[in-house]
Amino acid sequence: MKIKNYIITMLLAAGLITSLSACVNDGGQVFGELPPGVSLVSGEVPEARSASYDELLHELRITWKTPIDPETCKGIEVTFQTLSGAMKTVKMYVNPNFPTTYDYFTVITNKPESVTYRCIWNKEGAEKDEVSEWANVSDLALRYISSTSRFSTLRYPAYTLVYDATATEQIKNAYASIIGQTDEDQQEYYSNILLTVLSAAYYSTDDAGTQPVNTLKCILGHMDLDGAVAYVSSDNDGPLMKMSSEYVQQVANGSTSQEDAVFEIRGVLIHEFTHLIQANGPIGSNNPSGIEGYADAIRCACGGVTDENRINGALNAGAYYDESRKSGNTPCPYVWQLPYGTSGYFMAWLRYYDGDFLRKLTVSINNLGSEWSLDKAVQYILGDQYDIETLWNEYIEDVKKEQA
Ligand SMILES: [Zn+2]
Repeated sequence: MKIKNYIITMLLAAGLITSLSACVNDGGQVFGELPPGVSLVSGEVPEARSASYDELLHELRITWKTPIDPETCKGIEVTFQTLSGAMKTVKMYVNPNFPTTYDYFTVITNKPESVTYRCIWNKEGAEKDEVSEWANVSDLALRYISSTSRFSTLRYPAYTLVYDATATEQIKNAYASIIGQTDEDQQEYYSNILLTVLSAAYYSTDDAGTQPVNTLKCILGHMDLDGAVAYVSSDNDGPLMKMSSEYVQQVANGSTSQEDAVFEIRGVLIHEFTHLIQANGPIGSNNPSGIEGYADAIRCACGGVTDENRINGALNAGAYYDESRKSGNTPCPYVWQLPYGTSGYFMAWLRYYDGDFLRKLTVSINNLGSEWSLDKAVQYILGDQYDIETLWNEYIEDVKKEQA
C-alpha cells in the first residue's frame, strides 16, 4: 500500500533506521513514540493520474490512478481560486449515489494551477477530520480539452429558419450581424449554443443522447410574450424558438449596442435551449427552481450572465424564508424555490462544491421523481454532511465579499 511506503520514505529521508518501518501498519498509523524531528502524517494523498481543463466551463477534472476506497478515504478537501479571484476551500465527499466520485473530482476555477487537494481519512470517532498532505495540480500534466470532444457523435437538429412580416430587411441584417450572415452560418451558431448547453447539463452523448433535439424552427418575429427577448415552445411541426424582432430592432436603431446584443442573445438562447434538453420531472417536481432556475444556472455556468446581474440576483433575493411568498401560484416560502436567477445563480455557485453539480441535478430530477426539491437534491448530490440553509448563507457571504 502506498501509505506505508510514504511514511517509510519519510523516515529514511530523515536519516532514521529502517527497522522503524515495522511500526507502521497499513492504515498509516504509527505505533509507539516518534523519533525526534519526525512529524506524524496520516498518509499521502491518493495518487492522481491526470488533470484536464475545460476553459469554457472552467472545469478542472482530476482523475485518481486507482479508485478511492471509501473505507480509507471519505473524501477530499480542495483549495482553489474561484471565478471571482477569491480563494475557497471546500470538502467533497465520496457518494454512493454517484460512483464517479470514487474515480475523479471536478473543481470550478479560472486558475487550475491554484488547486491543491488532500484526502480526508475515514476514521471512526475521530474528533477532527484527519487529513493527508496536500498535493497540487502542477505535479500533473494539465491537458486542455473542449466540450466538443465529449459530444463528437452529437447530431444537430434539422433547422427551419423563418421570418415573419415584422422582420424587415434592416432587422434581418442586424440579426445576421450577430448570429451569422448565411443560413449555414446561422445554423452553426444555433448548433454551437446547443452544444454549449448540453456540455454544461450532461457528461457526454451517453447521457444526453446523440440527437436530443431532432428539429428546430427558429423564428425571427413579433414577440407575443410580454418582456421576452426570446422563448421556446412548439407547434405542429415540433419545437420552435422565437426571437423578438422588436429587440433586434433596438440593435438596428442603435438603442442597444452591438456588443450588448451579442452577449444578451447568446445568454438568452442558452437559457431557452436549456428548456429543449433539460430533465422534466414528474408534476410534483415541476417547480420553479427545477425548470426556470435550472435554465439560468446553465446560462450562468456558460458565462451568459454579467457579474452585475449575478451579484444583484443574490443580494436582492429576499428573506431566506417567507411563509406567504409565491411565484405565480406556486408557493415558494424558501428563497431557493424561486425561479430564474434567484435559485439559478445559487445552483451555479454550488458547482464550487462539486464541479458536476448541474449534471448531477439532472440525475437527481430523474431519480428523486415527484419527491424532488433543491434541498433534497443538494443532500443527494453533496451528501448528508451538507444542508441547504448553511450553503445559501455562505453563497450570500461570498457574493457580498465579491462586491466589497
Ligand atoms: Zn425559461
